[in-house]
Amino acid sequence: MKMNVTCIPGDGIGPEIVTEAKKVLDKVCAVFGHEIEYKDILMGGCSIDACGEPLTDQAIADAKAADAVLMGSIGGNTSTSPWYKLPPHLRPEAGLLKLRKSLNLFANLRPAYLYPELKDACPLKEATGEKGFDMLIMRELTGGLYFGDRKTEEVDGEMVATDTLVYKESEIRRIAVKAFDVARKRRKNVISVDKANVLDSSRLWRKVVEEVALDYPDVTLSHMLVDNCAMQLVKDPSQFDVVLTENMFGDILSDEASMITGSIGMLPSASLNDSSFGLYEPSHGSAPDIAGQNIANPIATILSAAMMLRYSFNLDKEADAIEEAVKEILKDGYRSVDLMPKGCEDKFTKTTCSQMGDLI
Ligand code: ATP
Ligand code: MG
Repeated sequence: MKMNVTCIPGDGIGPEIVTEAKKVLDKVCAVFGHEIEYKDILMGGCSIDACGEPLTDQAIADAKAADAVLMGSIGGNTSTSPWYKLPPHLRPEAGLLKLRKSLNLFANLRPAYLYPELKDACPLKEATGEKGFDMLIMRELTGGLYFGDRKTEEVDGEMVATDTLVYKESEIRRIAVKAFDVARKRRKNVISVDKANVLDSSRLWRKVVEEVALDYPDVTLSHMLVDNCAMQLVKDPSQFDVVLTENMFGDILSDEASMITGSIGMLPSASLNDSSFGLYEPSHGSAPDIAGQNIANPIATILSAAMMLRYSFNLDKEADAIEEAVKEILKDGYRSVDLMPKGCEDKFTKTTCSQMGDLI
């Protein structure tokens, strides 16, 4: 297969971790007989410095022309970087929001998996126990509270702020279809999370999800209220396979789920649209505090590249190979500094960013 991939190295540790992900992709292509062509574009702080804006129209066009986008991370230190003295629409993160919107990336997939080798880093060792923890949050990314009408006004002598939570049937249906499709590739269990005892948008959500479920008789569907879900994640995290939820609930629950895996340096993500196009990036930020030192953990980005092979190119075997390689180097005791528990330095081999890429 021939793949055209646009890369966004970005800011901070972005360029270092993307280099390692490319290294791994090149190896996979060599082994499995594929061809991959990269085009790098600027986004974020580096684009502000070079072009005066966080994302140019040309960069959007380049991203659109590719089969998929692989991203490192963007932004800098929010209290010291001059980028954050600019108005909000000119800051680094505005580039990413613009890109998500222009590409209609409505489905955000965040798998959270606890590697048995990293159990020591898990704050819920007892709750995850023998069963482990392996879930995927399917978060709606372009609707709901974050995109509804908002205003702040003075009414009867006091300030009143309003945010609106809007979902159309079609928006719910397309994200539900993505969740059921993904569940078929996993343990075939979808838990749809809402607040249907209070919100109209949640009642519509539930109705549409149930309609979609009729097309997937092989997948089990159940519903859970969001407050209960937050509690269940701590109480019994192993019960979850695919969690399907709206934008804000997904934002909150995915941060909660990520902490159960121990290190943010391990978590990939994918944002997909209606076609096979996707944007793949680690869940963490640009980590300006460790940029340029070759100590960042590149695994989240490497696993994002594996997701790219799986979801944009249907290359499951190749994605499996990358995930296996990651497991293997962890089993062999290689650890970037973020994965090194204090006092365990003699148990593991301290490994740099580029060494991690070489090993994988
Ligand atoms: P953002 O707002 O972009 O999410 P942030 O400051 O909230 O940025 P990160 O940039 O993710 O969060 O950094 C949080 C902490 O985690 C930092 O101390 C950073 O060094 C560390 N960190 C993040 N990613 C990695 C990584 N890949 N490897 C090692 N440490 C990391
Ligand atoms: Mg953050």
